[in-house]
Amino acid sequence: MIMIWTIFKELNLIDNNNIIGLMFIPEVYKLYHNNPYNNFKHAFVVFRNSYLIYRKIKHQIELTKLELFSLLIAALCHDIDHPGITNKNAKKILEEHHVSVVISLMSKHNIMDRFDDIKRPEIIQIISDLILSTNMQYHNDIVTKLSNIKKFNNISDRDKLLAMKGIIKMADLSNELSEEADLWSYAIIDEFKKEAVEFGPDTMSIDLTKYNHMKSQSWFVSNIVLRLYVEMSILFPLLCDFRNAIERRVSIYSTASESSINSVNLLESTNNIFNSMNK
Ligand SMILES: [Zn+2]
Repeated sequence: MIMIWTIFKELNLIDNNNIIGLMFIPEVYKLYHNNPYNNFKHAFVVFRNSYLIYRKIKHQIELTKLELFSLLIAALCHDIDHPGITNKNAKKILEEHHVSVVISLMSKHNIMDRFDDIKRPEIIQIISDLILSTNMQYHNDIVTKLSNIKKFNNISDRDKLLAMKGIIKMADLSNELSEEADLWSYAIIDEFKKEAVEFGPDTMSIDLTKYNHMKSQSWFVSNIVLRLYVEMSILFPLLCDFRNAIERRVSIYSTASESSINSVNLLESTNNIFNSMNK
């Protein structure tokens, strides 16, 4: 929590005199449930990696203070108050709920003090666009739009927002770059199982009786994660290291799903790029 606060302070994104604001991050922490996957640790990873990705490509996409603040708040709060069940069972889409929780929390803690009143609606708009973009339902659409941006020069605000969606989504799907990739992938299954226990197996988004972990990870990483990383690395060549790491994971998964090797043994072959960047 201190690290998160320090990043906001160092970037001069939070008012030094904002004593009420100090309680914002502990309350974000409290509002994350103790889910196997959608928990505060996941939020922290997405926050940290959004910032690391941005730092890599800063020379190409210089965000204003307002935009960087919005990106980091969205990353930290993108799954806030997540009940641990999928959208399928929710009355409204979960991401809309995360947005409304973070907006009321920001006003409660005067967290936007640094910015003029007239800028605040813009912050709320960016945060809500970014959080909604983490809904996987929009994944293909965002990847296709990213592929339509030919060059990232003289960019329009719309393209800039799209690139910010690319950053938060890369961070949200960055588990494969971590030493804990397999733990995270099993944590998601645990969350699905928890849902099945509570709501019955019919409500689950996957059929566990036919489920093959390696095959399904292999499909997900090559068809969903890699496509996003490829498009982002075309726009921002310095992201190629991440794309290469995902490609290595894809080949590991495809070998493993053919030979049914347990993925836990394969971790050593993965480079933990984010950790090395962080040193
Ligand atoms: Zn997430």
